[in-house]
Amino acid sequence: MPEIKVLPEEVVSKIAAGEVIERPASVLKELVENSLDAGATRIEVEIRKAGRGLIRVHDDGRGMGREDLRLALGRHATSKLNVFDDIYSLATFGFRGEALYSIFAVSRLKMTSCLAGADSGYSLEGEGGRVTAELPAPPVKGTTIEAADLFFNTPARAKFMKSDAAERAQLIKVVEEAALANPGAAFRLVIDGSELLNLPVLPGGMMENLKNRAAAVFGKSVYGGMAAIEARGEGIAVYGLVSRPDALAATRVNQHFFVNRRPVASPLIRQALYRGYAHMLTGRHPACALFVELDPASFDANIHPQKRDVKFSSENEVFKAVSNAVYAELLSKQTASVRMDERGGAPAFSAPDVPAYRAPQPAASAPSAETASLFDNPSAAAEPAPAPFAAAPQAFDWRGEDLSYIGQLAKSYLLFDCAAGLLVVDQHAAQERILFEKYLDEFSKGAIKVQPLLVPLEAELSRSQMETVLKWHDWLKEAGFELDQRGPTVALLRAAPALFYFTQTAFAEFLGYLSEVLGDPGKAAEDMKRNIVATMACKKSIKAHDFVKPQEAMRLMEDLKRAKDGFHCPHGRPTLFHLSGGDIARRFQRGGAV
Ligand code: ADP
Ligand code: MG
Repeated sequence: MPEIKVLPEEVVSKIAAGEVIERPASVLKELVENSLDAGATRIEVEIRKAGRGLIRVHDDGRGMGREDLRLALGRHATSKLNVFDDIYSLATFGFRGEALYSIFAVSRLKMTSCLAGADSGYSLEGEGGRVTAELPAPPVKGTTIEAADLFFNTPARAKFMKSDAAERAQLIKVVEEAALANPGAAFRLVIDGSELLNLPVLPGGMMENLKNRAAAVFGKSVYGGMAAIEARGEGIAVYGLVSRPDALAATRVNQHFFVNRRPVASPLIRQALYRGYAHMLTGRHPACALFVELDPASFDANIHPQKRDVKFSSENEVFKAVSNAVYAELLSKQTASVRMDERGGAPAFSAPDVPAYRAPQPAASAPSAETASLFDNPSAAAEPAPAPFAAAPQAFDWRGEDLSYIGQLAKSYLLFDCAAGLLVVDQHAAQERILFEKYLDEFSKGAIKVQPLLVPLEAELSRSQMETVLKWHDWLKEAGFELDQRGPTVALLRAAPALFYFTQTAFAEFLGYLSEVLGDPGKAAEDMKRNIVATMACKKSIKAHDFVKPQEAMRLMEDLKRAKDGFHCPHGRPTLFHLSGGDIARRFQRGGAV
């Protein structure tokens, strides 16, 4: 008796038409999900030529008999009906019965499968949706699916694919997310003959395995800054790993959210996570592997397979459960450690006020600054866009005036006597502006002075970040950054533009940021690439709180005078403001000038 049935028409019509197979990573995602659905405890993935050559997934799941093997390739064929009470929650879980059908249509496919205890396995081969051979196979329990020459018959689609490195990064991410979400199954990933991930199932249960996997996926340094959270409430459980507030990152590249173990991109959950940090975020971003588990009837996954969004029937409950779980854990950590306020009293922050969740407004109205910067636009999130600062009290032009240096305030501001008033300069903003322009100037002249580093700086990256960084390798070299790789997750900086000075941490943040925002080197406009790299390098190469000597202060102002835009740092913040004698006198309720 075949297990596989064809979905009823009413469900079929709810399934968004076609477009399941967009790129190699979508093939891999479907195959890995099928293996997991088949109860596999070991999944081995092999990729060649960024997935265009071969995507092979081998599992030890329950396998298929001969007839099911044939049926599996039919449209809207699924064996997963009986698992669910109603066909609608079936679709909610992404069982559409069309993945294999769609993959078969655009590749040369070979499926080999064997049921436990059967005398023989079977294998089917075909291409472009046509079966060409059917053969017996050795009786090895489980299923192997090989999709070769993806898009061989749809050259138009093939053109849409990104660079090999970009596709590989996506493929790796699929396995990383599956491995995080399914600690009960072992995963192995081999790309072009080299092993990128090998994650066995360790004794010790869910949390132990999740930790082991997080260490492999995030890299040791990010993982080292994470804390476990767990909160099980009525009808909803929230657990996983999140960054401690003292270990936040410059980007949100290491955020993974799961609902009932399926990876999702949920603005609501992300927003709730951020809310859990209350004011501890300071514009930075937590890494996370955050799991929400709830009754399948209480959410709806968008049926379109490429959209990973979910709709919850009670958004506020989910929002509160997540933000409270995060907050409660961080609070207990803070209380236990030294972050008491100076009087030794309660921790120096108060419970987040959890307001009702408001979904981001659709594009018609501009999203609020907070929502936009944190959740909508990844580049804005990584580097908050210039806020609409109140323009500095208008344009007092200090450039023609004599300056005499008064001193430094809070190791951050330089004070000058200027035109019978006070000129206050943000030394970091000014330094950033000057470096930014000098660097871009050297760049445009093709004359970047490069300084080899005696001791290379290291940045620990996730494997997918590393893929992204590698595809920028050549361009970054032109930009003055010589990168090298040590092992699959450590990037080395061997030389950098002489203008910049990086600490180890700053370099790691610089590279982490770039790996998120830069996209495809071939596609981005040259100006934009230069601007991004320059902005970030300047920001990261400025040491906070340095002492500035008087001569340095004067030299800085000379440089600033020559800058094209000496009034703003590269992010758009003002570099300085001037208080006139009149302004100062008014503060003392005097009539005249100082
Ligand atoms: P769906 O997963 O939505 O049911 P698919 O097209 O992905 O649809 O797969 C069709 C059917 O083929 C599945 O329902 C399942 O019965 C069978 N199948 C696919 N992959 C495997 C696998 N690795 N092991 C066992 N059965 C599988
Ligand atoms: Mg499937």
